[in-house]
Amino acid sequence: MYSKKPYHIYSKWLKEVYGEKVYKIPINIPVTCPNRDGSKGTGGCIYCGAKGGGNETLSESLSVSEQLKQNIAYIGKRYHSKKFIVFFQSFTNTHCEFSDFKRWILESLDDSIVEIAISTRPDAISTEQLDFLAALKQEKGIEITLELGLQSINDRTLEILNRCHTVADYCQAVKNIRTMNLKTCTHLILDLPWDQESDMIKAAGLLSAVQTDFVKCHALYIEHDTVLCDWYQAGKVSLLTKEDYINRAILFLEHLNPDIVIQRLIGRAPEADTVITNWNSSWWKIKEMLEEKMHKENKYQGRLY
Ligand code: SF4
Repeated sequence: MYSKKPYHIYSKWLKEVYGEKVYKIPINIPVTCPNRDGSKGTGGCIYCGAKGGGNETLSESLSVSEQLKQNIAYIGKRYHSKKFIVFFQSFTNTHCEFSDFKRWILESLDDSIVEIAISTRPDAISTEQLDFLAALKQEKGIEITLELGLQSINDRTLEILNRCHTVADYCQAVKNIRTMNLKTCTHLILDLPWDQESDMIKAAGLLSAVQTDFVKCHALYIEHDTVLCDWYQAGKVSLLTKEDYINRAILFLEHLNPDIVIQRLIGRAPEADTVITNWNSSWWKIKEMLEEKMHKENKYQGRLY
């Protein structure tokens, strides 16, 4: 294990900004997604499972304050932490009535909360929501991050994924969010079989140019009861290898602005929900392999930026 990371690691950034360890508290609210309910598309993205990306959340039937209380009691005790980030994680958390959005956000505030992170789509954030969040940030002195699913920088791949938004939608969303002095975190799947290695360089260039603050990367995994699962089982799509993923991740990091903070290099999903995740290896082993390769080959984030 190397102590110095060859990329701008989130845990270090959190410690620098907040002076101590800060943990995310996942919150589940009763929202769906415009790409599922017909407002934008139907059926959802081909890889999206029943939980809409929220794998560690409590039931949405519990109020926001109850989820917060239970999670803080558990995580705070386990990690001896006193500061937290509320993370609205599943589905599209801005796809709701503004009055509900406002109520849920306000309910999530507590003295121990230093930041709010909201997972959403690039085409699903209203001006009203941004105005409210910007005012809240100023009034309470807390940070607010909008997490945007982009996944690929190819419009053609986005079409195959049935994302029902474009790369231009993403660029516009980042611009709107930055204008309001809020932060953005961009989600990417680095090993989509329809993308090429050269797309990693383009993705790093685009994310650097639009000045996203954070990035979350993950590998393509196959969840049960998804279109992707049907394609995979019918032999219509094959996954890239673990080595491909590592090579692509390194290529991406080397071309990325070194100031952008990496929140995640490889994702994870519960075994019970998936046919295959991370080549049946543990996520931290893949992360270690990636870091070891970067150290051995003297590669680091921003080297080719
Ligand atoms: S936009 Fe997100 S929540 Fe909606 S279908 Fe796609 S992955 Fe699922």
